[in-house]
Amino acid sequence: MKHRELRASLIETALRMNALGLNQGRAGNLSVRVAGGFLITPSGMAYDAMRPSDIVEMKADGAVTGRRAPSSEWRIHLDIYAARDEAGAVVHAHPMFATTLACTGRPIPAFHYMVAVAGGRDIRCAPYATFGTRKLSVNALRALADRKACLLANHGIIALGTGLAEALDLACEVETLAAQYWRVLQIGKPRILPAKEMARVLKKFEGYGLPSVRLREAGLPSVRLRPAAHSLRATGREAGRASAPAKPRKPRKPRKT
Ligand code: 13P
Ligand code: ZN
Repeated sequence: MKHRELRASLIETALRMNALGLNQGRAGNLSVRVAGGFLITPSGMAYDAMRPSDIVEMKADGAVTGRRAPSSEWRIHLDIYAARDEAGAVVHAHPMFATTLACTGRPIPAFHYMVAVAGGRDIRCAPYATFGTRKLSVNALRALADRKACLLANHGIIALGTGLAEALDLACEVETLAAQYWRVLQIGKPRILPAKEMARVLKKFEGYGLPSVRLREAGLPSVRLRPAAHSLRATGREAGRASAPAKPRKPRKPRKT
């Protein structure tokens, strides 16, 4: 069987997606890019019953190899790989909070700076279209322009990444943001960050989490954090040093009464 390991990690990621509470039952689907096409979960099958041989291989022209039918959303996956060179994996799920918001058709605005993880100053919501249709794929790709994730109205979410772990991580972030936004909506009017601030955040995100050497290669400022000298003197613990031995205290003389 071709791509045995990748098929296995596709199933592992699907199981993790459900275990994390990002999806329920047989809903959702996942894919990972391979040379000339991608591997995708089969349609309507429980993830815990899935075996590597159930995974379907689809070529860039839509031709399939495998004993199962590909996910009904294969069109979205195929169109994403065709349009987005950076996409190495795609996760589609029906998480509780993001789907709740998507049922109102509203995007997740910049109520929190972390919406920038999806690549822009909001997380858009693609207009509703029937599941498994070309129209839904068109709507999703539009909502994904300059973004790595979007909501699908009355349906769920899509997240992409360079690989499966990254796509699942992003799906997790989107659901966390949706849960926070949902709570904010319960207690009042969210304070939306201005576009200028979000532009600053997006700039900072370009190098976020990269090691200094990669930052320098990418021409981004790298900051080396050094503990302040006074704090070193105070504890002797920073920079990996063992704490300075405490001086023995002089015994106090008993007070005369
Ligand atoms: P499939 O089982 O066909 O992948 O469908 C699940 C789904 O979420 C459809 O949008
Ligand atoms: Zn779905």
